[in-house]
Amino acid sequence: MKPNDNEILPEKQMTSQTLFYILIGIILLNFIVDKFLTHLNAKHFHDPVPDALADVYDPTEYQKSQAYKKAKHSFGTLTGAVSIVGTLLFFFLDGFAFVDNLARTYADNNIVVALLFFGIIMLASDVLSTPFAYYNTFVIEEKFGFNKTTKKTFWLDKVKGWIMSAIIGGVLLSLIIWFYETTGAYFWLYAWALVTVFSLLMNLFYTRLIVPLFNTQSPLPDGTLKTQIEAYAKKVGFSLKKIMVIDGSKRSTKANAYFSGFGPEKQVTLYDTLINDLEEEEIVAVLAHEVGHYKHKHIIYNLTTSILTTGFTLWLVSLFIGNSLLSEALGVSEPSFHVGLIAFGILYTPISEITGLFMHLMSRKFEYQADNYAKKTFAGTPLISALKKLSKNSLSNLTPHPAYVFMHYSHPTLLERFENLQK
Ligand SMILES: [Zn+2]
Repeated sequence: MKPNDNEILPEKQMTSQTLFYILIGIILLNFIVDKFLTHLNAKHFHDPVPDALADVYDPTEYQKSQAYKKAKHSFGTLTGAVSIVGTLLFFFLDGFAFVDNLARTYADNNIVVALLFFGIIMLASDVLSTPFAYYNTFVIEEKFGFNKTTKKTFWLDKVKGWIMSAIIGGVLLSLIIWFYETTGAYFWLYAWALVTVFSLLMNLFYTRLIVPLFNTQSPLPDGTLKTQIEAYAKKVGFSLKKIMVIDGSKRSTKANAYFSGFGPEKQVTLYDTLINDLEEEEIVAVLAHEVGHYKHKHIIYNLTTSILTTGFTLWLVSLFIGNSLLSEALGVSEPSFHVGLIAFGILYTPISEITGLFMHLMSRKFEYQADNYAKKTFAGTPLISALKKLSKNSLSNLTPHPAYVFMHYSHPTLLERFENLQK
């Protein structure tokens, strides 16, 4: 790494080099904090299981869950190490300057250069991470009996993912750069409006536009489960038409359920695996939890928070992005929006860690509210047994470290949810 060799002012040379090392420092600090928490969490894998959760696993299953946690932990350590080494090499070997030059040999237009620049970086990092994803799915998940993904589905998912991010990312990035070039300092307001409209539409039409690309959704099949769900849905005033079953079993045996959309597009989605694994009463309890998210307007709160955070981030971008130091720190002599954005993104990491923490705190609070709603409008006991079964079937960790939970968990731990529902 030799920031601006052709720079005339030595003071400035110093600062772009200083900024380079600040960026490296942030990347390393982030890595170390994450490794420390992961290590702390792994040290507690063998802690005694709380009495309240003693019935989750039998001894054989518990052994299996211990082996799964360890396999996942080792794999995470390996991918983390490869990723940090790759990132540092890319930074120290002037990777961004190389890709920027490469993109500029094919185009002159700033927008096209930016699209090529991000396209190359994302494609390269995807190609590097694909063997790890493949190993995770077809070796680790397979070994523990979770994997249902065929090789064809795996590769099709990849291709669909690429096309989707090329279209969506390409359009958003082009428009944002165009706003930057035409409106200057106020570009962030236009970009904010664009991202806001986009995320509203995505939230509204997620189940209609995105999910069908990857899964098949169908209405609840007739039978006793449907009758029970119908009775509950009627009681709380939720339309049965808004409850769909998704073929999660296409990829994994792990079960789930979620609430999405708002207004006329609201929907509760139940995985077919959830329906297979749980008793009918437990399924209704899980559904009641999801309806709780809707009744408490959690989608609206999440959306509002993310729109406000986006506005704040874009405003910060507008303050920094014009500074050529950002590009120079990455060894790129011709300042540009796209290279500046990379440097900004790294500088922003500590802030995004804090906003992420806040989002997790809020999410865990919402989970308690949804659990309480299910208890109030249906029952707590079947929800507890549903949560226990889901934990067992995904071999989850019953003894996570509180610091790890605080930083990474979007849901309270099983023990915390148990204790809350028992109250
Ligand atoms: Zn929930």
